[in-house]
Amino acid sequence: MATTQAANELVAAAQALFTAGVMSHSGHANLSARLDAESFLLTPGFVRDLGPGDLAVVSLDGRVLDGELRSVSTEIIAMHSAVYRARPHVGAVIHTHSPSATAFALAHRPLPCRTEPMLRFGQPEEVPVVPWGPRGSDVSVRGIVDVLEQRPTTSAALLANHGLLVFGPDSTATAHLVVAIEESAGAEIAAATIGGAVDFPEGALAAVRSSIARVAS
Ligand SMILES: [Zn+2]
Repeated sequence: MATTQAANELVAAAQALFTAGVMSHSGHANLSARLDAESFLLTPGFVRDLGPGDLAVVSLDGRVLDGELRSVSTEIIAMHSAVYRARPHVGAVIHTHSPSATAFALAHRPLPCRTEPMLRFGQPEEVPVVPWGPRGSDVSVRGIVDVLEQRPTTSAALLANHGLLVFGPDSTATAHLVVAIEESAGAEIAAATIGGAVDFPEGALAAVRSSIARVAS
């Protein structure tokens, strides 16, 4: 039952990314959702017209326990499992080639937190860049692990010359953060043509945190 619910949420998150217009022309992405300490659901190598029955169950050590993955997808298992290992509270991981975020990844430029959505929806700090390595390679995965160690509170990373990697408590929240980051990257690029984006004033993060705490209490 828990698996069915997680699968439905993951499929809905994939659809939300298309609806929000944050996918690249190719529609390339992979999404995963943790099932327990040892396994997670993973998209099979496509996300367009995805159904819950298309998802595979994969162990953190890379074995396909149920379902099937396209051969290209076996390369990305390590990218997802590295995040689950490094962050025990992470419940979902999403990788996309969202165009504006990918522009930052191509330029090897960290994405600053200078918009309300990033500030409020899970990334109140800059998105760091992971050095390039072939997709799913030890170099690439090691780079992701290193950045997660160096930035213990980041919920996203830009993969140099590649794309975006975002993680969060569940599929829905993680998809929201992908949208917030892509929107922020697009706004940064647009602002660059009219003089450049400006940082939040000193103390903005603390103010937002206390306002969120007030609403939640
Ligand atoms: Zn990719």
